[in-house]
Amino acid sequence: MEIENTFSIRTFSIEKYHELALDSGAEIFTIGYSNENRPIEVLKKGSGKLKVLFIARIHGNEPATTQALLEFFKDNDFDGIEAYGIFLANPDGAALYEQLWLKNPEPFWGNNFSDARLNFNKVDINRDWLELSQNETRAIQEFIISLRPDYAVDMHEYYWGESGYPPKYPTDDADGFMVTMTDAPFFGADEFVKYITEESMNYLIPKLEREFNWKIKPRHFLGTSRDSYENPSFLGIYLSLRGIPKLLIETWGVGCSTLFLEKRIEFHKKALSYLISWIEDNKKAFLLRVDKPVEMEFNYIDMDLEKFNSFSGLLIQHGIKGEIVGDKFIVHTISSEKGFINTIYFLIFERTDN
Ligand SMILES: [Zn+2]
Repeated sequence: MEIENTFSIRTFSIEKYHELALDSGAEIFTIGYSNENRPIEVLKKGSGKLKVLFIARIHGNEPATTQALLEFFKDNDFDGIEAYGIFLANPDGAALYEQLWLKNPEPFWGNNFSDARLNFNKVDINRDWLELSQNETRAIQEFIISLRPDYAVDMHEYYWGESGYPPKYPTDDADGFMVTMTDAPFFGADEFVKYITEESMNYLIPKLEREFNWKIKPRHFLGTSRDSYENPSFLGIYLSLRGIPKLLIETWGVGCSTLFLEKRIEFHKKALSYLISWIEDNKKAFLLRVDKPVEMEFNYIDMDLEKFNSFSGLLIQHGIKGEIVGDKFIVHTISSEKGFINTIYFLIFERTDN
């Protein structure tokens, strides 16, 4: 059994994370503030034609992601890549996690501090991407859409799902896996997004499984029909539908406290470095990507006015412009985002289940 003794009062300290950020050699800038007025900061390091974005800790109770991202930025110069890292996407949740953990640091399935998963308003900001109702979501969304990264990594930890204390082995959980990865084959997503995320995931899994001896579960939520439009409330689905390839990487860790913490951190770091080398090796594919401005036409004249207002309002909220020309509503977008607009249209005009 490999439980590391990494306990220190600063193990999950917000203050320590800021010191690590300053020590990472990256430029640091603030893109907004949380509901409790904590800054949402971005690290920027390296230069090159490709922009890669890493997002950690959208759930405050998934601590290995922040530590891994900060160490990863310190250890890498990103030659040929412009790397961006949001190391505390939900700083209020992370701060609450620190407090709760100091009071109760036992690794136990029930100590998952589920309130720390959420932001100060008790909203899961990984379910807020269609609505953009929270400060954190809006700040990060605006940043992402103005940056338009070539690739984005969505870093998570997932729940110790079985009641018990503590598991005998890392693979002793219900499904026998320690990590999940999710690519982006969502219905309506751009073909390039689907291809790139699947290829990169298939490259990472065997390498990491060999190296860590942890079983990795690939998740491939394949949607093949209009009925399987995915709700872009999730960050990962949102990014994919807006034409940004994204991979979700998730180690088993919520409720685990410091159990396997070093290995969870190491896993995330290794996954990110393999991914960076894969992106470098496939640079050409990214640079040859064609993403043209397009116009999408909708029959305005047939639309229910209230629904039309929701449709155009949501597009505006997401920074997408449309105009009424005669009996048509014309949306100005780029080809890789057509899936997003079609999804919004579907959710407002066609979905019948709510
Ligand atoms: Zn999560």
